[in-house]
Amino acid sequence: MQVEDPVPGGRAASQIPCCVPEERAKATRLVLCEIPSWREDNTLMVDQGGKGEMCCGPLEARSFLDGRYTMGSVSPKGQKSLIEKVLNRGICVKCGACVGICPYFSYWDGQVTALDICHAETWRCLQYCPRADYEATSLEGDTGGNEQTMGEYREIWAARAADRDVYDQGQYGGVVSSLLIFAMERNFIDAAVVTDSGNDGFSPGGRLAKSPAEILECAGSRYSASASLAVLNRAVDRGEDRLGVVGLPCQMQALERMARSNGGPKKTTEQVKLRIGLFCTWALDYRALRAFLEREGIEGRVRKYDIPPPPAETFMLLTDDGWRHIPLEEIRNLVQEGCTLCTDMTAEWADISIGTVEGRTNWNTVIIRTENGAKLFRQAVAEGAIKIENLPGENLDHLKEAALSKRRRAEAILKNEPES
Ligand SMILES: Cc1cc2nc3c(=O)[nH]c(=O)nc-3n(C[C@H](O)[C@H](O)[C@H](O)COP(=O)(O)OP(=O)(O)OC[C@H]3O[C@@H](n4cnc5c(N)ncnc54)[C@H](O)[C@@H]3O)c2cc1C
Ligand code: SF4
Ligand code: SF4
Repeated sequence: MQVEDPVPGGRAASQIPCCVPEERAKATRLVLCEIPSWREDNTLMVDQGGKGEMCCGPLEARSFLDGRYTMGSVSPKGQKSLIEKVLNRGICVKCGACVGICPYFSYWDGQVTALDICHAETWRCLQYCPRADYEATSLEGDTGGNEQTMGEYREIWAARAADRDVYDQGQYGGVVSSLLIFAMERNFIDAAVVTDSGNDGFSPGGRLAKSPAEILECAGSRYSASASLAVLNRAVDRGEDRLGVVGLPCQMQALERMARSNGGPKKTTEQVKLRIGLFCTWALDYRALRAFLEREGIEGRVRKYDIPPPPAETFMLLTDDGWRHIPLEEIRNLVQEGCTLCTDMTAEWADISIGTVEGRTNWNTVIIRTENGAKLFRQAVAEGAIKIENLPGENLDHLKEAALSKRRRAEAILKNEPES
């Protein structure tokens, strides 16, 4: 039986403790060819006794490998801790930071799954996870000196894309897509980790966009998490460099934790040249959303989602039959459990953070946080790619209130205290 490297560019198979027992492979008539050859869609390619390829998802793969599926001998500080304290507690927020760095974690059908036990001493999964309490990479209490509101920042603007196509296809003002395209065209980045709608139009997944057209194909917001950092991990593993990453605040936290981590063969964040964070109050659990939409009779492709700012209180979906409006109250229980512990609304660890402007949703609020972000944004404005205006004081006040209220809600839960 030939067993090869499960992760392109990773360790040799002989060093990996999860090889499938030969008798089991024979009994199931599944012969692992270049195993596991993880494909972009997270399926595992195997060969059916020389009859050609087939794919199976991580759950099937796990049962295929299940002879070794026991946590008994694993270090309590490594993978075991992540499984017990994050995955088994149901507080994983599907950022994807633990997926694609090793053969042991996979993202499939909206779930992060541990495929087998890991004996490595690097514990990168634990170091990167925004929901883990690993001290050395913890961001707790370190919010750039402005922890009461929304992190450290240099400038704040209302902005929109100048290009009509980008503006039309963007979720609000199209500034995220516009900045990515500008960064690619001016050689700040070679490619960008973004999130698309999935093959069926509503199962979001990460994508490495290598052209402005691909960036634009991924414009718009999908309100469930996509584990898109797995795409970053795999891209870095393949040797891709000069990457931009768009992600939710928890994903920006994971990037910062990667930067603070030690023990990995490569420092993933050295290849990341631009971090664009999205504002976020919560994200929906993908499986729960899918079941809800099925119950509502929404089965076709969802072309666009929107959650207009208060007081709208509605979740809007553009389907083949037009817009559907669902009261927010009906989807609140679909929010990921781990989001209730999230203190960051404005992506405090990004170079540039972007959300909507309340009351003027065809514009974006843009928070410039780092010198890197400021340099790109100033150039994009100077060359006419982005239009800017001053953000009205009352919008800034509302944003600070919303960010503070999210932080307080989460802190109350974290301290196990009743909400004030
Ligand atoms: C789950 C979620 C919750 C949000 N909550 C708020 C909020 O409470 N308040 C607020 O002001 N704004 C929120 N936003 C951000 C807002 O929806 C817009 O993404 C943001 O204003 C940028 O607009 P744009 O027109 O510049 O985006 P575009 O130019 O259309 O670009 C959007 C980018 O978002 C990426 N993206 C789409 N879905 C996801 C996803 N699930 N995970 C990671 N990246 C994704 C795409 O890859 C694309 O690059 C949220 C976004 C998401 C995905
Ligand atoms: S939150 Fe992210 S890093 Fe943590 S277990 Fe989930 S996907 Fe992995
Ligand atoms: S609320 Fe926090 S944890 Fe949940 S998706 Fe948004 S940023 Fe991530």
